[in-house]
Amino acid sequence: MLEQGHQYVDGAFRRGSDSGTHDVVNPATGELVTRADLATPADVDTAVAAATRAQAEWGRATPGERAAALTALAAAMSERAEEYAQAETAQAGKPIKLSREFDVPGSIDNVSFYAGAARNLEGRASAEYDGAHTSVIRREPVGVVGSIAPWNYPLQMAVWKVMPAIAAGNTIVLKPAEITPITSLMLAEDCTRAGLPNGVVNVLNGPGRVVGEALVTHPGVRMTSFTGSTPVGQRIMELASGTVKRVHLELGGKAPFVVFDDADLDAAVQGAVAGALINSGQDCTAATRAYVQRPLYDAFVQGVADVMRTVRLGDPTDPSTDQGPLVSVKQRDAVAGYVDRARGYGAKVVVGGQAPGGDLARGAYYEPTLVVDVAQDSEIVQQELFGPVLVVLPFDTDDEGIALANDTPFGLAASAWSRDTFRTLRASREIQAGCVWINDHIPIVSEMPHGGYKASGFGKDMSQYSFDEYTQVKHV
Ligand code: NAD
Repeated sequence: MLEQGHQYVDGAFRRGSDSGTHDVVNPATGELVTRADLATPADVDTAVAAATRAQAEWGRATPGERAAALTALAAAMSERAEEYAQAETAQAGKPIKLSREFDVPGSIDNVSFYAGAARNLEGRASAEYDGAHTSVIRREPVGVVGSIAPWNYPLQMAVWKVMPAIAAGNTIVLKPAEITPITSLMLAEDCTRAGLPNGVVNVLNGPGRVVGEALVTHPGVRMTSFTGSTPVGQRIMELASGTVKRVHLELGGKAPFVVFDDADLDAAVQGAVAGALINSGQDCTAATRAYVQRPLYDAFVQGVADVMRTVRLGDPTDPSTDQGPLVSVKQRDAVAGYVDRARGYGAKVVVGGQAPGGDLARGAYYEPTLVVDVAQDSEIVQQELFGPVLVVLPFDTDDEGIALANDTPFGLAASAWSRDTFRTLRASREIQAGCVWINDHIPIVSEMPHGGYKASGFGKDMSQYSFDEYTQVKHV
């Protein structure tokens, strides 16, 4: 596959027309995974032309035909689930346990969900509203969608973008992050193996500034669906205005984890460690700021420290590993910078706070890290650092805990921990985020929407709600 090129257009692999290449590096070892060729704006034109040709037919396929194609895709992916898991771990450094038990089965489940959802796209009732004319509502595809995805969950992000788009009759050109293109290319290849028409799913691999921006500004692309950082989302929104493009933005997060004084302490401690360290903390919904009501604060910090010290940091191909490296040395150094600066302004690092030595020094590893004694307005509390770092702060009243949870620009996800139903329901109402978990943190399902409030963006991935992004409503 990789010898034929790192672009997938009109049902076949091909090489990008850029003369340069990009090294995809295994962050656990520093070894080369593949030397990927890169697309140019001319390749964007070619891919958009293929997607435009395909859309005419695919948009007319019956819901049942689209459902059958997606059912076949889920089967094709299941046949090589282990290959996907290995590729995901090699390019992103994810523990193989996570790739096998979360990324790959979660992605396949999402494909299966959209196979069913394709047959349940509803308009509203038709009626004679003025007594003399019959009104009908049509829910139609938008056309060619350009999607841009991040590196943290490469396969899941690709699936979350591609499936609602094509289930609703759109076609797509997807640009994965250039450091993790492999499983997106495998997905496109499986679309062809499963019998989807050529040109319905195309993947271009290349730099955001070049290929991403060419997709966002292309007049033949009717919608940009983006998952990534808030600054890039802002840039995309600006660029999309030139062609009055529909935009769907899934941006950064800084999820609060609010523990009230009647919470189950052991459960909260376990939930905080798992929620903070999942995917080495490179998860937009990861628990990053724990606010703990004063009576539980000391015990919570002690408990988290004890559990964090048991986390097995190491080779991601070892099934017993809990936490692998970060995605790159650059990302690791950025995380280390946040923690080092926090020390400089008086933070106490209770656990971790450094890159490990020994065998792990050759990879992009960073130890699970617990930070306390920081102010609410400090950088480490306010900014997304995207690494295995949990900050814990105390609060006194319920109102204060909720106010602190809301006090960042972000609003993607949050959790509230208490044995009192009224307290948790109040928190779920008052916390401004697209998802609030009660007495847990992280679980997601294909049937429920994922998306942000505030600077975490707008629009929903997953669930039937995603069709609001990928369809337009017509009154006949
Ligand atoms: P990023 O914003 O740097 O890059 C994301 C994608 O955008 C990449 O494919 C990149 O090549 C492309 N890109 C970069 N500059 C571009 C430009 N000028 N025009 C068009 N495309 C451009 O983000 P990242 O570092 O890959 O991923 C981490 C970020 O993604 C974090 O902020 C995280 O919170 C966010 N994220 C959000 C969600 C969510 O659902 N809200 C999910 C996963 C990740």
